[in-house]
Amino acid sequence: MIATAANMSVQGELRYDESMSRHTSWRAGGPAETFFIPASIDDLSTFLAELDPNTPIFWHGVGSNLLVRDGGLPGVVISATKILRQLEQVDRYTARAGAGLPCTQLARQCIRWELGPSEFFAGIPGTVGGALAMNAGAHGGETWERVASVRTIDRGGEIHERSPAEYSVGYRSVTGPPNEWFIEATFQFEPGVVPSMDNMKSMLERRKATQPLGLPSCGSVFRNPPGDHSARLIEAAGLKGYRIGGAEVSDKHANFIINRDAATATDIEELIEHVRQTVLDVHGVELQHEVRIVGEVPA
Ligand SMILES: Cc1cc2nc3c(=O)[nH]c(=O)nc-3n(C[C@H](O)[C@H](O)[C@H](O)COP(=O)(O)OP(=O)(O)OC[C@H]3O[C@@H](n4cnc5c(N)ncnc54)[C@H](O)[C@@H]3O)c2cc1C
Repeated sequence: MIATAANMSVQGELRYDESMSRHTSWRAGGPAETFFIPASIDDLSTFLAELDPNTPIFWHGVGSNLLVRDGGLPGVVISATKILRQLEQVDRYTARAGAGLPCTQLARQCIRWELGPSEFFAGIPGTVGGALAMNAGAHGGETWERVASVRTIDRGGEIHERSPAEYSVGYRSVTGPPNEWFIEATFQFEPGVVPSMDNMKSMLERRKATQPLGLPSCGSVFRNPPGDHSARLIEAAGLKGYRIGGAEVSDKHANFIINRDAATATDIEELIEHVRQTVLDVHGVELQHEVRIVGEVPA
């Protein structure tokens, strides 16, 4: 049977016109036409198998790298973080984690199991699935350096086991089989590398000292260009504190844009574009977005 989200029977929750400002760390953005929270992996598989294949699907982690335009997201947003939180040690140097598990929890448990290097995951305020999609990294570590295999689910609800060889992985970029999303990953750690809570805490303290962590943001807006830092270029272009509407370039870390005062996604996107253009004019460097910008421009 082919169904639209609106006439499907599911065990999980279907919300309509759900504001994505509730589901992004920028606390801004338009509505999802349909927001689906599956009750189980079987519920998710059945939903995907029955959904009209023409309905757009967007997979959501916790929205810590996401700008949803004010016109919102058509189709279905899938939020499966609640059902994909499992974490187990598979053998001495291997752990398996669900895609909905927060990276901070992955880091803490791996440290307890003496699986290293794993402290860097604590610096990424998203899910394992988001870290896999972004090849998230911090403090010299990157997600895919540790991936031994992943499990994915496709548009038809089928589950696949995949190896890193099936993905093209770069700096904050991952390309793999289309129309598949991560549901689990197996991470391989290194013999002889013993991680520590102290090391993790000092990494987090460094972040607190250099990033505006109490304010809504998406972390770094732009990737670092080869051999340089976006924050340095933005600061040198005189943009710290620059504001459009309620969005502001942080004066603590110039590659962060903060939602200072009820910013709309349009304010934030206009500020991102202003920063990109100014850095190009001043330094001749074309910055690339790290943050994912999705959804429709408001009518
Ligand atoms: C204060 C702050 C600090 C940050 N510091 C860092 C940092 O040091 N290093 C770093 O790399 N990032 C950092 N980030 C950015 C962000 O946390 C990461 O990119 C994170 O990996 C995003 O995970 P998420 O679950 O929030 O994904 P979302 O923002 O929800 O989604 C991001 C992208 O991943 C896709 N996606 C999410 N889950 C899945 C899945 N299961 N399968 C397939 N695709 C999926 C989405 O469709 C979207 O395209 C920071 C963000 C903030 C707010």
